[in-house]
Amino acid sequence: MKLITRCASCGSFKTFHAKVSDRFDLVKNRGEKVELSCKSCNANLKYDPNNIKAVENKRIYLVAALIFAIGSIAIFVGFWPYLLKSRNAYFVAAFTGVVTVPFLIYQNIHHSQENRIKYFNTKRYG
Ligand SMILES: [Zn+2]
Repeated sequence: MKLITRCASCGSFKTFHAKVSDRFDLVKNRGEKVELSCKSCNANLKYDPNNIKAVENKRIYLVAALIFAIGSIAIFVGFWPYLLKSRNAYFVAAFTGVVTVPFLIYQNIHHSQENRIKYFNTKRYG
C-alpha cells in the first residue's frame, strides 16, 4: 500500500510503502504514532495514523497496462492466422471472448486497488 502524509515540519508531501490493509494494521506494524523521517528537511517526527492516507500506486497501473497490452498482442498474433482462414462464427466469438481476458485482468487489478484505497481511507484509527 502506498501511503502519504505531510511533513509537520516543512509541509512537503512524503510517501512510503507499508504492507497494511488499514490503519489498525499500520499501528500494529509501526506503533501508535508512525515515525517517519522527512527527505527534504530531515525531521524525524511521529504521525497520527489518521493523518496518513492511502493513494494510488501508479506502478500497479503500469504493470496492469503491460499485462493488457502484451496479453492482447500475444492473443492477436496467435489467433490471427486462424482468424483469416476461418469463417466459422463460433471461432470468431471464441476469439472475441479470449481477447477480453487481458482487459478483465486489467480491470480487476484497477478495481481491487481502488477498493483497498477506499477501505484504508474510510476506516479511522481509534
Ligand atoms: Zn520535512
